[in-house]
Amino acid sequence: AKDAGRGTWRAYGREMDQRLHERLRREEELRVAIAEQQLEVHYQPRYLSQSMQIIGAEALVRWHHPTQGMLLPEQFIPLAEEAGLIIPLGRWVLHQACQQAASWPVEMTVSVNLSPLQLHDDRLLDEIARALRENGLPGERLELEVTESALLQETQSTLDALKRIKALGVHLAVDDFGTGYSSLTNLRHYPFDVIKIDNSFVAGIEQSTEDHSIVRALIELGRGLQMRVTAEGVETEEQLRLLTDDGCTEVQGFHMSLPMPAEELRRLLARPTDI
Ligand code: C2E
Ligand code: CA
Ligand code: CA
Ligand code: CA
Repeated sequence: AKDAGRGTWRAYGREMDQRLHERLRREEELRVAIAEQQLEVHYQPRYLSQSMQIIGAEALVRWHHPTQGMLLPEQFIPLAEEAGLIIPLGRWVLHQACQQAASWPVEMTVSVNLSPLQLHDDRLLDEIARALRENGLPGERLELEVTESALLQETQSTLDALKRIKALGVHLAVDDFGTGYSSLTNLRHYPFDVIKIDNSFVAGIEQSTEDHSIVRALIELGRGLQMRVTAEGVETEEQLRLLTDDGCTEVQGFHMSLPMPAEELRRLLARPTDI
């Protein structure tokens, strides 16, 4: 058993100190990472389900940590959001994605994830306009993804922000759709072009008739609202077949392609299509 009283409290205090210290260290590391280009954007292609033609790619950020190797977004995006670093990080990703998309051998869309904090940043609109202008990328070739859960807060200012972005010709996608419990009747007031069905539903469509029904309903909803529908997290041939049969026109997932470095995507796009 442990000592009661002061000893325990002191140990607890030390642990807190350590945790706070660790967090501040991590924050400083991330600041350096953004400034010194330790971040890299990977791209995961999106396909037309019928023809398997690549019609776009989603930008997904990675961090090449000096000692810990490649870190995935879930290991640093939450910290970036808490520390206010998501603004410079998001700006860097946006510029990087527009620059790379402008150099692709095919004129297709690049999708960039927006944190809710970016959506409420006054400078976002200027940043988007600048990223497009500096890289000569037409607005229609940029798609911004906003999670469904981000739509729940501050509805009016979110709606205003989305409409201003849309006025630049940029496409808007509602990400992780089905997980955010947003009111379906609200969706029609938002200027979205695309619904992205969350991985978690796609994962269940082979085994669970409930999940399959939800996915079918989401596809129908998208169709009814005249939005494109992308299913994400497609991992098997059978999932691809079911989704295609259900009328889902666009797919993304490990079954077709993993996220890859920009160079690799460029090679993939430059390759003559097989006959
Ligand atoms: P997301 O927007 O839902 O992106 C899709 C995630 O699913 C990616 O994870 C991708 O690698 C993964 N994925 C793709 N295909 C499959 C599949 O077949 N099966 C499974 N199980 N997963 C698949 P990743 O790259 O780790 O990104 C995680 C999340 O981090 C993203 O989820 C997005 O919300 C966030 N994120 C990534 N890059 C950025 C960024 O630049 N800015 C912001 N704000 N968030 C980002
Ligand atoms: Ca996304
Ligand atoms: Ca998603
Ligand atoms: Ca997801």
